[in-house]
Amino acid sequence: MSEGRLLLSGSGRLCVAQPPGADVPTVLSPWALLVEGGRIDWVGAPGDAPPAETRVDLRTALVTPGLVDAHTHPVYAGDRSDETAARLAGQRYDGGGILRTVRATREASDDELAGLLDTRLLAALASGTTTIEAKSGYGLSLTDELRALRLLAAADTPMRPVRTFLGAHAVPEGMEAERFVDSVVEEILPQAASLADFCDVFCDSGFFSVEQAETILTAARGNGLALRLHAEQLARTGATELGIRLGATSVDHLEQLDAAGIAALAASSTVATLLPGPALLMGAGLPPARALLDAGATVAIASDANAGTFGSFSMPLVIGLASAVLGMQVGEALQAATAGGAASLGLGEVCGTIRPGLAADLVAWDAEHEGAFALHLGDVRPHRIWIGGSEVRTALAER
Ligand SMILES: [Zn+2]
Repeated sequence: MSEGRLLLSGSGRLCVAQPPGADVPTVLSPWALLVEGGRIDWVGAPGDAPPAETRVDLRTALVTPGLVDAHTHPVYAGDRSDETAARLAGQRYDGGGILRTVRATREASDDELAGLLDTRLLAALASGTTTIEAKSGYGLSLTDELRALRLLAAADTPMRPVRTFLGAHAVPEGMEAERFVDSVVEEILPQAASLADFCDVFCDSGFFSVEQAETILTAARGNGLALRLHAEQLARTGATELGIRLGATSVDHLEQLDAAGIAALAASSTVATLLPGPALLMGAGLPPARALLDAGATVAIASDANAGTFGSFSMPLVIGLASAVLGMQVGEALQAATAGGAASLGLGEVCGTIRPGLAADLVAWDAEHEGAFALHLGDVRPHRIWIGGSEVRTALAER
């Protein structure tokens, strides 16, 4: 590439994160890092730094891998904040609200939906997310699911995109679940597959059964998609074991997971992707983060930004929440939001860690220590962002 070699250095903390399975992130201080051809070429002490055409001194700033948000639902219209208020006032969540978002999303024009999506992707980028998984799932018909996936494909963002087909997010109004599963498998999946990387199913009490999820995911695998699952959020269903058995890259949520499920995940290569935001707002238990980490499972954390149970795309907030309420050390939470998130998306050899050969996805924060993610809950901002070695300008970074 023609941009030459870029040497970043600093007297502060470089949290390199580690591939999953390693301990809390290794921190270098002082540090230097060489970027060439969009990739990290070398990491070490400033005195050993190789020559470079361009040098940037980041002084005392905390520098981390770009954050990876491995679970979002950004393609929707409508507002359900009234439901959150009602739920927090004691009304039981039955998920019926998804169909309300489906109605509003179907009624929105392409331009309206694209505008809403752009705003949300910008918010994610402005909070330091450099890789984002984004799901369909508020369409629930051939036309509307394909529209969501096409809008995601057309979105103009420098973030590394991962697209997930979540046709089986809820059973559409006026349709039997079995009939809809048939429609997903026979009609929607074959057309959605070329627009997506993953297939996901909301496998839970009141949504899709383990058997129905297996039918859909097996078909998805046959269509060349990698697999992930909404699992054990509302009830302990066995979705985790299904995911492991089918070779799912990740099972997500896990609020109701028990000791057997924790042991099964620890013995597998399937990532446990935990979502502290909706877990807190739903008030029906927290995922067993500490037990999963202690058992040796690979843990990711993600926002689950969506229409009805958690609206924020701020991964700094998610790191803070995981530290404050899930029993994770801040370093573990940061690792789960970087290396863990990359593993959750099958991108462990692409991004999420600062080591030679991986993409130069980096964030310099307006903070000096990763503890700021807990201390300033949601209020730690990127000072500068690089994705694939190119600096990204965001409205916030410009201030
Ligand atoms: Zn979700």
